[in-house]
Amino acid sequence: MTAFATQSATSPTDELLTLRVSALHALAYCPRLFYLEEVEELYTQDAAVFAGRRLHVELEESEDGEWQDLYLEDEWLGLRGRVDALRTREGQLIPYEHKRGRCQRGEKKEPLAWESDRLQILAYCCLIEAAQGIAVTEGRIRYHADNVLVKVPVDAAGRETVQAAIARARELRRSTVRPPVTENERLCTRCSLAPVCLPEEARLAHDREWQPVRLFPADDERQTLHALEPGTRVGRTGEQLKLTPRDGTVEKLPARQIGQVVLHSFAQISTQALHFCASQGIGVHFISGGGRYVGSLDWRSGSIQRRLGQYAALTQGDICLRLAQQLVRCRGRGQRQLLMRSRRKQKESQALTAAIQQMKAVLKLIESADSLASLLGVEGQLAALYFGALDQTLAADLPPELHFAGRNRRPPKDRVNALLSFGYALLLKDVMNAILTVGLEPALGFYHQPRSQAPPLALDLMEIFRVPLVDLPVVGSLNRGQWEVQADFTVRGEQVWLSDLGRRKFIGLYEQRKAESWKHPVTGYSLTYRRLLELEVRLLEKEWLGEGGLFAQLVLR
Ligand code: SF4
Repeated sequence: MTAFATQSATSPTDELLTLRVSALHALAYCPRLFYLEEVEELYTQDAAVFAGRRLHVELEESEDGEWQDLYLEDEWLGLRGRVDALRTREGQLIPYEHKRGRCQRGEKKEPLAWESDRLQILAYCCLIEAAQGIAVTEGRIRYHADNVLVKVPVDAAGRETVQAAIARARELRRSTVRPPVTENERLCTRCSLAPVCLPEEARLAHDREWQPVRLFPADDERQTLHALEPGTRVGRTGEQLKLTPRDGTVEKLPARQIGQVVLHSFAQISTQALHFCASQGIGVHFISGGGRYVGSLDWRSGSIQRRLGQYAALTQGDICLRLAQQLVRCRGRGQRQLLMRSRRKQKESQALTAAIQQMKAVLKLIESADSLASLLGVEGQLAALYFGALDQTLAADLPPELHFAGRNRRPPKDRVNALLSFGYALLLKDVMNAILTVGLEPALGFYHQPRSQAPPLALDLMEIFRVPLVDLPVVGSLNRGQWEVQADFTVRGEQVWLSDLGRRKFIGLYEQRKAESWKHPVTGYSLTYRRLLELEVRLLEKEWLGEGGLFAQLVLR
C-alpha cells in the first residue's frame, strides 16, 4: 500500500537547530519513535513516561564542586541537553546518567549499557567536549533497579557513533515518511508512544496472520462533564475544574479525571478554565439548547506534517471512493444487523423481512459504485429501507407518540426523531473530540462535501457509530419503556425536543453505551466504544501511511 509523501518536513533553517540528546536516545531505541516525537511532535501527556526512561537527579545528593542538571548546547556539534550530573573522578570530568530500570546483561551476566543509553551518554560526553573545550574520557550510567554502575569509555568509535546518529537524525527530520515499526516487538510493549504508533496494527496490516497484542488502552476512565443547566459556570481552581450551577452548590473535580467538558445551552466557561482544558488535552464542546452540536475548542497540538499527509491522500478521488465505500458498507451492514436483531426479538414482520432481504441486495452494489455520486445513491437506498422498517423494531404496545414514521430533522417533528437527533449531536461531538485528540483536520473529509458548517471528516466518521451508539440504544430504551411521553419531551407546534429531564436521561444512556466493550473483528481485541472512537481515527490515518485495511470494520453482532 502506498504511503503518501508531502512536501519537506523541515525548512533549511532546521539544519541549524540543535537536536536534543534525549532525541538521539529515542532514535537509538526506535527510529519511528524519534520521528513521531521530533517530526510529528507527538508527545505523550504522561510525565511518567519519560521518567521511565530517565531518572531525574533529585535522587542524588548535591556535592560541592560538582554540577547537577547541567544544560549545554553546541551549534557546531548540533546537540543540546541536560546532563544529570558532572563529577570529577581522578582528575577527569565524568558525566553521569541515571536510569530507573535494569541494565543489559552480557553473555557472562556482566552489566552492560543498553544501546540507546550508551548513545545518550556518549552524546553527552561529545557535547561537554564541544561546549566546554575539555576532553572527556568516560561517561557513567547508574541503573537504579539493580544498583549497577556501567562505565562507557569515549573513544574514536564512540564519537563516530554519535556523529552518525546526528546525521541519521537530520536525515529523518527532512523525511516526509514515517519510518516502519521496529522489528523488535518487545520494544513496543515498553514504548510510551505505542498508543499513537499502533505498531501491532501496522504489523497486522502487512501480515493478516499476525495476532496483535493490544497496546492501545482498552478504556478511557476519564469522564465527560456535562454542564446542562443554563447559567451553570465552569471554572478552574488549581488542578481542578469547578462546576457551579445557579443554585450556588459547587462541585470540584480533579482535571485528570475529566476527558471532556460539554456546555449545553447557555452554560458558561471561564477563560482560565478554557486555557487549562486546552493545556491538559480536555475537550470543550458546545451543544445548543435545542440539542444541536455547535462547535468545539480546537486544542490540537503537534506539527502540521500529519495534516499535510491527510491533504495529500484525501484530495485523491480513488482513495476517497475506497474509504467511502468502506464507510457505507459499515453503516449499511450495521443497519441491517439492527433490523435482524429486532426480527429475532419481535414478532416476525413481513415488512422487516423484506427490508432485510432488499438491503442485502443493495449492499452488493457498493462494490461497483464508481463515483461518490453513485455511492450516495446506494447509501440513500439503504437509508430508505432501514428507516422505512425501523418502526417494526419497536414494541407494538408502545404509545403512538413513541412510534417512528420516518426520519425528519432540523427540527425533529416527533419524539423518536428528537431522540435520534440529540444522539447524533452527542455523537458528532464525540467524533470531533477524537479527531482533535488525534490531530487531524476535521474540515477535510473523503465522503461528505463541505456544504455547511459541520466538519466533513466528523460527518464521515460518524457513519461508523450511528447504529451502535445511537440507533441501538434508542430502540432498546424505547422497547424497555424508558421514555415518558410528556415529561421527557417538549412539544412546540410541530417541533419536538427533549426536555431537561429527557436530555439527562439520554446522556446517561449514551455514556453508558460508550462504556460498553466491543471486540474488533480484525484485531481480535476488545475495547470500549469511547476508546474505539479514537482508535478509528488513528486507523483512518493509517490508510494513507501505508498501514491500512483496518478502518471501519465495526458491525453489530
Ligand atoms: S511502538 Fe514500537 S514501532 Fe512504534 S515508536 Fe514505539 S518502539 Fe517504535
